[in-house]
Formats: sequence, structure tokens, C-alpha cells
Amino acid sequence: MINPFENALRQLWGAAKIGNVDGSLVERLSRADKEITVTIPVVMDDGSTRLFEGYRVQHCASRGPYKGGIRFHPDADINEVRALALWMTIKTAVADIPMGGGKGGVVVDPSTLSSGEIERLSRGFVRALWRDLGPDVDVPAPDVNTTPEIMAYMVDEYEKLTGDRSGACFTGKPVETGGSAGRGAATGLGGFYVFAALREKANLPESATVAVQGMGNVGGNAARIFHENGHKVVAMSDSRGGIYADDGLDPVAVEKYKEESRSLRGFPGAREISNNELLELSVDVLVPAALENQLTADNADRVKAKLVLELANGPTTPEADDILHTKGVKVIPDVLANAGGVVVSTFEWQQNRAGEKWSEEEVFDKLRAVLVPQAEAVWHDALAKNMTMRSAAFLLALGRLANEPKIGA
Ligand code: GLU
Repeated sequence: MINPFENALRQLWGAAKIGNVDGSLVERLSRADKEITVTIPVVMDDGSTRLFEGYRVQHCASRGPYKGGIRFHPDADINEVRALALWMTIKTAVADIPMGGGKGGVVVDPSTLSSGEIERLSRGFVRALWRDLGPDVDVPAPDVNTTPEIMAYMVDEYEKLTGDRSGACFTGKPVETGGSAGRGAATGLGGFYVFAALREKANLPESATVAVQGMGNVGGNAARIFHENGHKVVAMSDSRGGIYADDGLDPVAVEKYKEESRSLRGFPGAREISNNELLELSVDVLVPAALENQLTADNADRVKAKLVLELANGPTTPEADDILHTKGVKVIPDVLANAGGVVVSTFEWQQNRAGEKWSEEEVFDKLRAVLVPQAEAVWHDALAKNMTMRSAAFLLALGRLANEPKIGA
């Protein structure tokens, strides 16, 4: 089994070696500040009590409060959460926002729980961890399988326990309960802004063909946004499989079909493909927007996309990175490509604290203004040193982290 934390460390050490980064900084970032494992008792609908395991890894707070989502997934484990927390530290530094890095997870398949059980689990997570959270301490957000509604339960539980009324302890809340306009689409849209800023440099056509793996919040929004901007989304998939259409799909229609039939199977005018086939399609842009370790030593050789836009966290293993780099496939790394979510989360936190409400237009303008210069810098540095954009992004982040007096103090 691939250990995502080992991969994250290899990325960190690999970039540090290229950039001749001070070893003590890299040693420090190879460990989290704090790792918490909790047991969350939940009263189930049948009256029994089930115990769930939860984690919060607080990786680094030298640039601001720990920041990162909480995922609900049966395969969540401490090494995955460690990796995701480290990537958050790099991501917030790449985006140059005043946040650190953290991540949470609960080992659960939420599709097997009722809505009441999910609410009690979400509240239980906060009851187990609230002493370690707070608007100036650690600010969680949604991730895989966690929604704005779940953030609303969490913020409500946090308020009950602490009296905090700012709402700034969690981001990704529903707009009616202190969420930011535009947070829902932010990760997909941020990825699109990064892509759009680099498209010409990457020699890709004005109307590119795109395959999107994953139909959660990130993949669904990304497919829609690419389509709305004149690109041709030829393939989409969920965890069970995908569909392909030469003439392109209408992502909104696909989403609606999936909602009604609970599957992509039988979508009119498309043929069924597996997730593996989707990853190997001959397209301009491949967008992995699901889970880690999708492009590995086993399949990277067969990737035919010209560019990979990583909207998932950790979809490409270090071995696959090397293969893709040698093949000339450009990979826009997760720590840049999917930073839009945490950027708009930071806007939400700022609005909550200032008692402000920004319009969607304002949020999107600010998001673009944050991401485009970083995308250009990463592209430029990668080209100048013939390194991957991942190494360039890590080095950009490490340069910023090195300037923090608090680090290692
Ligand atoms: N879970 C998202 C990520 O991986 C968003 C984190 C946040 O908004 O804090 O970047």
C-alpha cells in the first residue's frame, strides 16, 4: 500500500535538495507540531453507541492558525491526515495567505449513516477536539464527504461549548450561517484560474479537451466551469466509473442525471469507461479531483494528457511525477491548483472577523488576484531550473516559511 505521508516527505525533501534549503527547516517541517487521535462516541438511530476514530494533525502554524479540512472516509488514517496537513502548510504558503497547515479525518463511510447520525458524529468531533480549535488556533473546513451543513453543525457545537459567536472557527459554512459567497465553487474555480493563466504557456488550445475524475464538490464544479468557459469536457467519473463522449458532455446535465439515477450508467450519448481508462485518455487536460495515488508507477507511462491539473490532494505519486516529467507531461501540483478552496476559506474567516459580507464577484476577483501571480511564479521557476512545477511550488513555499521567525523557535 502506498503511504501518502512518505510521498509528501519525498516531495518535500526532493524539492529542498534541488533548492539547497536549510536542513533544519526541512527537518522541522517533516514533523507535525501536534497530532491528536480521538474516540468519538455516537448514539446511532437504533439506540446503540458506536465508537468512531478521528484525527486532527496540526502541522505548522508559523504563518497563521492551523488550517485545513476534515474528511469523512472509511480509508482515512493517520498517515493520510499527516500528508494532507503537510500539504496544507505548503499550500497556504504558496498562496501566501496568513494561515498554517492542518487536517482532520474521521474513519467512517458516511453513506452508511443517517442524516441524524452524521449530525451527531460532526458534533462529536467538535466535543472531542474543541480545546485544540479556535479562530486563532486551528480553523477546520470541509474536505472529502464533508459539506457546508456539516460545518454548520460543527460551528454550532463549538459556539455552545465556548460561547464564541464569531463563527470564524470553521470555514466552508452555508452562506446563511456565516459562509462566504463563492466558497462552494472556489476550489474548482481557483483551479480554472490557474489553468487559464498557464494555458498559452503550456501550448494548449483555446478550446481544450478535458477529462475530470471525481464528481464531488471539486470535480463537479471544475467540470462545469471548464465547460462554461468554452472547453470540451469529454469524460467525467464518480467512484464507481465514468462516461465518455467525443462531442463533449454537459456537466450540469450529467450531475442532474447522477442525482436522479444515482449512477452515471446509461447517460444518453455517452459510453461507459472505467476510472483507469479515464486517466489514460488522450486529452489536453486531465483533472484528477478525487483521492490520492491515482497516477502511479503502474499507469503514468500510459497517461496521454498534455497537462495534469491536480484538484485532488496527492493524486500523483513521486514515481509517477518522475515518469510524467520525463515524458514532458506538465503537472500543475495540488498545492497550487487546488488552493482556491483554502483561499476563499481565508476570505470567509476574514469576513467573519470583520463582520463583513463580500459579494461573489468581489470574492472571485480577489481569488484570481491571489492565485494568478503564484501560478506565473511557479511556472517561471520550474522552467528556469528544469524542475517540476511541484518542486517549484514547494520551493516557493519553503522560501516563505524560512522567513518566519517563529518557525522552530
Ligand atoms: N479541504 C480543502 C483543501 O484541501 C480546503 C481547506 C480549507 O478550506 O481550509 O485545501
